[in-house]
Amino acid sequence: MHKINETEFFLIFTFVIMFRQVALRVCPTWLENKLTSMYFRAKSVSFNGRSHSLSATVDHSNMKVQILPALQDNYMYLIIDEATKEAAVVDPVDPEAVITAVRQNDVKLTKVLTTHHHWDHAGGNAKLSKSFTDLAIYGGDDRIEAINCKITHNDTFNIGNLSVKCLATPCHTRGHVCYYITGEGGEGEHPPSVFTGDTLFAGGCGRFFEGTANQMYKALVEILGSLPEETVEGVLRTRIYSQQPQIRLTRGTRKSGNSTKIRFGPYSTC
Ligand SMILES: [Zn+2]
Repeated sequence: MHKINETEFFLIFTFVIMFRQVALRVCPTWLENKLTSMYFRAKSVSFNGRSHSLSATVDHSNMKVQILPALQDNYMYLIIDEATKEAAVVDPVDPEAVITAVRQNDVKLTKVLTTHHHWDHAGGNAKLSKSFTDLAIYGGDDRIEAINCKITHNDTFNIGNLSVKCLATPCHTRGHVCYYITGEGGEGEHPPSVFTGDTLFAGGCGRFFEGTANQMYKALVEILGSLPEETVEGVLRTRIYSQQPQIRLTRGTRKSGNSTKIRFGPYSTC
């Protein structure tokens, strides 16, 4: 079998990256997913299969969040309601890692919270749904793999005793949704958490694949910026969970227990 050399690999990798940027805007969803999958798998090969960070756990009073690194620079989040041991997972692109985490925590996985349809977020939905019966897969876009619970702005549902509010933030993709979660006692119970997908990173935001600057402004300033604390700084004091490496604040928050540490990283390629 022909083994590709470094030059061939570089050319293929460059082609996939360049073509992906165009393809995400114009091609059908199935081709877009194929190209996106190729792109992230190629990145993983160039990363030599190393994990970008270790799994970590953030304990709130009645909610636990296990941070699960995936691909080269993504994160998945297992959200556990401690009272009922019901759990949900955000953007489970690596189903095997999720299944392992569910078993280790001895919880009942009932929901998938998908921020948007890109493969590096929704690419594990179908496989995960085969491993858990009656798995509800939430999202705001029909292009999301295996979606069976379509939601819109301000829709709400529960994970055990935890309350989830859906915040539509179109721009990176037209169906992008952030998930805002509060505990049983409402916002006073413990700091609320928001899972921002590819809308908001620490020090940046996702590319405008399917939206405008006005839409991103609305998402960042009017929607995320109006979460409990009334300023953008206040939003950053909220527990923000994103899918990109810039969001070191989750680890900083865990260590310091109060202030948010933000490390500015390279502009996201997602
Ligand atoms: Zn994306």
